[in-house]
Amino acid sequence: MLYVSTRGQAPIASAAHVIKEGLARDGGLFVPQNIPKVHLDDILTMHAMPYSQCVASVLKLFLTDYTVEELLECAEAAYTQEKFGNDPVPLAKVSEETDVLELWHGPTMAFKDMALQILPHLMTRAQKKTGEESRIVILAATSGDTGKAALEGFADVPGTDIIVFYPTDGVSPIQKLQMTTQKGGNVAVFGIEGDFDDAQRGVKEIFSDQALAGKLAEHGYCFSSANSINWGRLAPQIAYYFKAYASAVANGRIKPGDPIIYAVPTGNFGDILAGYYAKRMGLPVKRFICASNSNNVLTEFINTGKYNRKRDLLKTSSPSMDILVSSNLERLLYDVTEGDQEKVAGWMKELQDNGFYEVDSRTRNEVQENFFGAWADEMETGDAIGRIYNDYHYLMDPHTAVAWKATEKYRLLSSDDTYAVVLSTASPYKFNKAVLEGLGKGEGVDDSRPFEAVRKLHEETELPLPRQMGELEKLPVLHEQVIGAAAMPEAICTKLGI
Ligand SMILES: *Cc1c(COP(=O)(O)O)cnc(C)c1O
Repeated sequence: MLYVSTRGQAPIASAAHVIKEGLARDGGLFVPQNIPKVHLDDILTMHAMPYSQCVASVLKLFLTDYTVEELLECAEAAYTQEKFGNDPVPLAKVSEETDVLELWHGPTMAFKDMALQILPHLMTRAQKKTGEESRIVILAATSGDTGKAALEGFADVPGTDIIVFYPTDGVSPIQKLQMTTQKGGNVAVFGIEGDFDDAQRGVKEIFSDQALAGKLAEHGYCFSSANSINWGRLAPQIAYYFKAYASAVANGRIKPGDPIIYAVPTGNFGDILAGYYAKRMGLPVKRFICASNSNNVLTEFINTGKYNRKRDLLKTSSPSMDILVSSNLERLLYDVTEGDQEKVAGWMKELQDNGFYEVDSRTRNEVQENFFGAWADEMETGDAIGRIYNDYHYLMDPHTAVAWKATEKYRLLSSDDTYAVVLSTASPYKFNKAVLEGLGKGEGVDDSRPFEAVRKLHEETELPLPRQMGELEKLPVLHEQVIGAAAMPEAICTKLGI
């Protein structure tokens, strides 16, 4: 399997190359040249498989320059019982026709672990396979969860450095502490004066800065990415869509072959795109519900075909979705235009230059066939947290609640009661303030004392307290630096001593 850039101006590359590089040279994203197929029977057998084996069985179709043994080794090292518990991706029954797929049982309590625990293993093997002798410097812009998950995955991994940039006022107190307390000789963490898009733009500019790349090369370094623009992050996420389907069949929720709905709390469009690839591979999916918070650029895009980032980024209770430029949408556009690289490059240039593009009606229709866009405001999100807890005794974090609410809107508009799986992307403990507010217990909760809120949530709900939370409270803060976005290249050079 080989990979091409969505913009058509970069050489074709192997999987190892693509994972090592992250972003294509022409600024585009790498996509597989074709999408492999799987049989329903093979999907259904995943129910009884250990999760690491499910992941390896998906990866072997895409990362064909890795041996099956290597992929299994990578997956087994990533999804250990110690890190993820007995079942890394449990499917919880919530209502009559909707289940919740919990993707936050990993070390950082958010779904980013599903990919970022395996990426370092894929990356260090990619380094060897491509004969890369430079030390790999992983750059990550984060709206909160990617940063910590990348730090956790790459800390003290030989041959790598990891540098994370987060918007200093754009993440939750727990998210911030998770990053600023990170240990490891090869890690650096910087707060950025700005929002996530500023941080992401800064990282993208650094990737296309040839002079900086040259300077790094001179000193034996090269850049790579841990954001979901990296194919190595996207591919492992395909596995849990299959696994959830197999679990739903095994639990008697659906019959083999029934098309179902997946509702996905969406930011950079990575998670939901992995689901779309699963569908293209043969998974029976009726529709994906693309759920947004008040930053509802994607809802508008799906409904109108117009992508417009010319608006203010709003801070919400679901900060990991506070994004205006959803990078992975570019991969979807490539796929629905059947690989029209010229068209995709044109739209991306318009977005870059004017903050806006509009796709043709054929592309829009194709997107709408697969995706339903809906969004939830802050009131609706809080209301969903409280209501679902009262009605079903199931506690959701705000990101998950956005997707739940979007599913309700879909059902109301379409009168469709098809079985749905809502992807749950974070532990409620991670966003304790918003969750307590949703439960109507927000009084006296203060951002400056996040662990008090954690304990309060535990007392209110008796939901088991994640062990990671207890550990976090005791750790010293090691990274306090806050810089302007323009100073990112300099901060990198200083960290690397070049
Ligand atoms: C990253 C993240 C999302 C959004 O996922 P994308 O792949 O960026 O669309 C949603 N919820 C949480 C908790 C996240 O960390």
